[in-house]
Amino acid sequence: MKYLSTETLTIAAIFLGITAGVWLPDTMLSFKWMGDLFLMLLKMLIVPLVFASVFVAIVSLGSGEALKNLGLKALGYYLLTTALAVTTGLVVVGIVEPGAAHQMAASAAVTAPPEQSFSTLLLSFVPANIFQSLSEGKIVQVLVFVLFFAVAALQLESARRETLQEFFESVNDAMGKIAEWIIKLTPLGVFSLIGYVIAKEGLSTLWELKSYVLAVLLGLFVHALIVLPVVARILGRFNPLDYFKKVREAVLVAFSTASSAATLPVSIETAYERGGVKKESAGFILPLGATVNMDGTALYEAVAVMFIANSYGMELGFSQQIVIFLTATFASIGAAGIPGAGLVMMTMILSAVGLPLEAIGLIAAVDRVLDMFRTAINVWGDLLAARVLNRFV
Ligand code: ASP
Repeated sequence: MKYLSTETLTIAAIFLGITAGVWLPDTMLSFKWMGDLFLMLLKMLIVPLVFASVFVAIVSLGSGEALKNLGLKALGYYLLTTALAVTTGLVVVGIVEPGAAHQMAASAAVTAPPEQSFSTLLLSFVPANIFQSLSEGKIVQVLVFVLFFAVAALQLESARRETLQEFFESVNDAMGKIAEWIIKLTPLGVFSLIGYVIAKEGLSTLWELKSYVLAVLLGLFVHALIVLPVVARILGRFNPLDYFKKVREAVLVAFSTASSAATLPVSIETAYERGGVKKESAGFILPLGATVNMDGTALYEAVAVMFIANSYGMELGFSQQIVIFLTATFASIGAAGIPGAGLVMMTMILSAVGLPLEAIGLIAAVDRVLDMFRTAINVWGDLLAARVLNRFV
C-alpha cells in the first residue's frame, strides 16, 4: 500500500498526463473540468487559510518585536536568494547564449499587456476595502490587513487577545482538515491539468524555442538543486534532500497548477505536518513567501529579457544588466502567485531596458510550460525559507 500514497500517485499522474496529452489530446481537452475542479477547491481555501494562519502565526510570536525580528530576517533571506537566482540566470544566459540562432523568428502577434509601473505596484498592495480584497482574493492586500489586525490584537489585554487567538486557531485547524481532503484529490487534478496543457500547447513549440527553453530550465535546475540547498544547509543547518522528500507533494502541485497561491494550502499543510516546520514559521513565512519570494520567476525574467535582447540583435552592457538585476528582483516581488503573472511583469523590465513590449510575443508560446517549472522553484524556495527561518522562531 506504501506505493499507493498520494505522492506516488501524483508522480504517476504527471507522466500519465503528459502521455495522454500527447496521444489523446481530445480526450484530455474534454477532461479539463477535473483540473478546474481541483484548482477551484484549492482556491476556495486560500483566503480563509491565509487569513487565519497569518493571524495565528503573528499572535503566537507573542510580540511586535519578535515579529519584526522574524520579518526582517525573512526579507533578508528572500533578497539574498532572489539576487542569487537572478545572478544564476544571467550567468547561464552568458554560457548558453539563447536567441542568436533565430532572430525574431516568432511573430509578435500577441498584443502586449499594459505596462506595469512601480507606483501602481506599490498602491496595489494597500487594501482600500478589506471585504473587496477578501472577495477578490487579493492576497497581498489581505496580508497587509492581517498584519495590522494581528499586531493590534497583540496590544489587547490578554483575555481578549486569547479569545481572538483561539477563534482563529480553530478556523485554521478546520481549514487544515479541508486541505487534507483536497490534497487526496491531487493525482486526479494533476493528471487533468498537465494533460490539458500538453494537449493545448503541444510539445513542438518547446522545440522551436529550444535554446531559450534550455537556458531557463538549466538556470532553474542549478538554482533549485545547487544554490538553494547550499544556502539552506549553511543558514538552516538541515539536510535539504531529506526535507524535499517530505514536502515534495507541494512542489508537484506547484508544478501542475503554475500557481504559488493555489499551492499555498498544500505547502502550509505539508511543511507543518511532515516537514517539521513550526506553526508560526509555516503560517507566516509561507503566505508571505508565496507572494513576494519568487526565485524561479526572478531567474526566468532575467533569462527571458536577455533572450529577447539577443533576438533583437541588441547588446546589453554591464549597466543594463544591473538594471535587469534590479527590475527582475522587483518583478518577482510584485508578481502575483497566479499562472502567467511573470509574463505580465516582463513589460516592466522590457521598458526599463528599452525593448518593445511586443517582444513578449516571442516567448508567450512556451510560457505556460516554463511557468510550471518556475512556479515549482518558487514554492521550493518558500518551503526552504520556512524551514531555514524555523530556527529563529
Ligand atoms: N506562476 C508563478 C507563481 O505563481 C508566477 C509567475 O508567473 O512567474 O509563482
